[in-house]
Amino acid sequence: MRTRLSICRKKARYPSYEAALVVARSADIELRPYPCNQCRQYHLTGRLKGKRMPRER
Ligand SMILES: [Zn+2]
Repeated sequence: MRTRLSICRKKARYPSYEAALVVARSADIELRPYPCNQCRQYHLTGRLKGKRMPRER
């Protein structure tokens, strides 16, 4: 998944997957860390069931 630079700059960055995971687990909603191709760090994303996730269908 590619991350837009505009999105990257809005989101919190985490230096490692583990650091992001700690934050994700403390959140009320379901979040997942993912590596960002812009800053080479990690962000959190939610809405895994949403419409914005492209599917093969
Ligand atoms: Zn980023």
